[in-house]
Amino acid sequence: MVARLIISDLDGCISPEESRAWEGALFDQFANMCRAASAGKSALAPMTLCTGRPQPYVEVLMKILDIRYTAICEAGAVYYNLQDNRSYFAPSVTKEMIQGLHRLRSYIDSEILPVFSGLVYQFGKEAQISLFSEHPECFISITPRILAFAETIPGLEVNITPTPYYLNIDLKGVTKGAAISGLIHKLGLSRETIAGIGDTLGDMSIRDSVGFFACPVNAVPELKAVADYVSPYPDVCGMLDILRRPEMQRY
Ligand SMILES: [Mg+2]
Repeated sequence: MVARLIISDLDGCISPEESRAWEGALFDQFANMCRAASAGKSALAPMTLCTGRPQPYVEVLMKILDIRYTAICEAGAVYYNLQDNRSYFAPSVTKEMIQGLHRLRSYIDSEILPVFSGLVYQFGKEAQISLFSEHPECFISITPRILAFAETIPGLEVNITPTPYYLNIDLKGVTKGAAISGLIHKLGLSRETIAGIGDTLGDMSIRDSVGFFACPVNAVPELKAVADYVSPYPDVCGMLDILRRPEMQRY
């Protein structure tokens, strides 16, 4: 395989999953590899991001890593282009869905947050709701309540996926994979030339939309089972290892 573009998840792949300081020296090494790849100064294919994180977070990383391709934010709901500083919804996101999400958020404000202490919103999202807790076991009882209310909202269908510390409420049909397919179509690339990296269940759709898929050792077992390569190392160490694979090189 000759890679034209690497599309990677962020948390658990580039940075640790936990809310703590990053491994500076290792991240520097990764950032240097990314910048050289973007500038065409190495054999490594250029990279872009595909993450559940909101646009402002992605924008900063794009600047640090010199990412020149469109990035995918909010788990496939939002595209962001650094060159012209434009964010836009993926084609699958409708106005009715956004209005439905606002109603769901009002329900969470009044019925969920007051009951589960320590549960908070991740701020800055436009087309997805993410709840954070340091006690993610509460996600088990929260999920059916949110799903039941969402079913009462016309035009709104959601998927709810837990990651180690976040409960992500996504619009049905709006996935990382759908956004990747849209992006590679727009770029005129074929799926076989795209390499993907991810670590949680939400990244299963990355697996399905790329030619080569790798994950770090901290990835969930379901994803490791379908990956083309599983690094023996965690997050950024795993990323450095994965980027040395021949499938990640542009020639
Ligand atoms: Mg992740």
